[in-house]
Amino acid sequence: MAEIRLHNTLSGKVEAFVPLQAGEVKMYTCGPTVYDYAHIGNYRTFVFQDILRRFLKLRGYKLNHVMNLTDVDDRIITKAAAAGVSIRDYTEKYVQAFFEDCKTLNIESPEHWIRATEHISEMTKLIKELQDKGYTYTSDGSIYYRIAKFPEYGKLSKVDLSGIQAGARVDNDQYEKESARDFALWKAPKKGEHSWETPIGAGRPGWHIECSAMAMKYLGETLDIHTGGIDLAFPHHENEIAQSEAATGKPFSRYWVHAEHLLVEGEKMSKSLGNFYTLRDLIAKGYKPSALRFALASVPYRKQLNFTFDGLQQATNSVERLRNFADRLKVGKFPEGNQPGMAERIATGAKEFDEGLSDDLNTARGLAAVFDLVREANIAMDKGEFRQGDVAGVQEFLAAFDKIFAVMDDDDAAKMKALGYGGDGGPSDSDIEKLVAERQAARQRKDFGESDRIRKELAERGILIEDSKDGSVRWKRK
Ligand code: AMP
Ligand code: ZN
Repeated sequence: MAEIRLHNTLSGKVEAFVPLQAGEVKMYTCGPTVYDYAHIGNYRTFVFQDILRRFLKLRGYKLNHVMNLTDVDDRIITKAAAAGVSIRDYTEKYVQAFFEDCKTLNIESPEHWIRATEHISEMTKLIKELQDKGYTYTSDGSIYYRIAKFPEYGKLSKVDLSGIQAGARVDNDQYEKESARDFALWKAPKKGEHSWETPIGAGRPGWHIECSAMAMKYLGETLDIHTGGIDLAFPHHENEIAQSEAATGKPFSRYWVHAEHLLVEGEKMSKSLGNFYTLRDLIAKGYKPSALRFALASVPYRKQLNFTFDGLQQATNSVERLRNFADRLKVGKFPEGNQPGMAERIATGAKEFDEGLSDDLNTARGLAAVFDLVREANIAMDKGEFRQGDVAGVQEFLAAFDKIFAVMDDDDAAKMKALGYGGDGGPSDSDIEKLVAERQAARQRKDFGESDRIRKELAERGILIEDSKDGSVRWKRK
């Protein structure tokens, strides 16, 4: 098997991945801020880290993976206060929605799901350590980290420190990406907002201290991999490094792996720009969860992914092609024996798949290996050359692929129903296929009245039909 290589933001290079302890990977992923539904940009990052953990597991590593739920930050506090409810009551709906979405997208549960609000004492302990070591100062009841005390500040994001003003500080969890500032570890209580009584005083944690304290509690002082979206590299991850390394004197994470953004028409999909879709928005339009997972996974994580509905439709077709092929393998009756060269062909495919993923998780290369083999095997089947003795080998290859991509189970309809979509009068895929076939038959016998009627009926039920020049028909939900 090929050596696993990953891009490490810290070194700026693609490096061989070797965990500190043989056979085990300690990994931390910054989870969602649960003030709203997550959007599909967020899921690009979460699907990427899922592919990473699944690949490491397939390679035999034992995973110790932690994902947090950021259930306390500025926006949550403000929104909970405005709604007049507790933080827990405000966030619970979005926490449950996130878990449901992950299940729907086949994002595996990490070994530990943890909430920031359940780790306040670990955070205040870490802040106390930083106070004792002289990395902090207090102003108006808030405690700040003095970045000038940490000479390596900027080593992850390579942020320009030339304009840094000593003592310039920031309270907001979100702030401009360009400027390095002393940041709040602990914020003084505000009237009407939730706060905690703690040994370092009353108040609430800053966002950055949450991840440092939680990661080190579950994974120790040095992690193997820390992941997140690229926007987290600065200031969030830079600040996590400053906090953790100042406290322990040890490297905090050996590999920092960041996913590039999902864009919509060239712009980052984000809640603040209002150009976002949730998983549920897409499901309501009739798109399948497997198609979204495929679309998100198919572009290598370090490339920006431009989201389009055409792309989603193509992903739908790709998943369909794979599932049809798996069915054909299962129900097909092939002549006994083995096709000459097929066993070797499967082995080359498997090797190419593994090499693709080992190459900094090049999912596009992995998928090309799969689709090449599927195409060749389909042609062999059409020609009657494919043999029964090769079925198990191809199935094994597909099973390894699906341990990572997780799109082969035909369970979309059930998942959509579980989220409250479908089953409410919308036609099922097989109903649509049947009508499309009837319309094709009507056209062949030149009964255009009937074919128009079926087209109209489908249109009324939200299904668009596209006739292509080669005579084939595609359909999609409006
Ligand atoms: P948040 O809920 O804002 O804390 O974000 C959760 C995760 O989604 C973080 O790792 C972000 O970096 C990531 N993220 C946010 N927007 C996008 C986007 N448009 N594309 C990919 N990842 C994103
Ligand atoms: Zn974090």
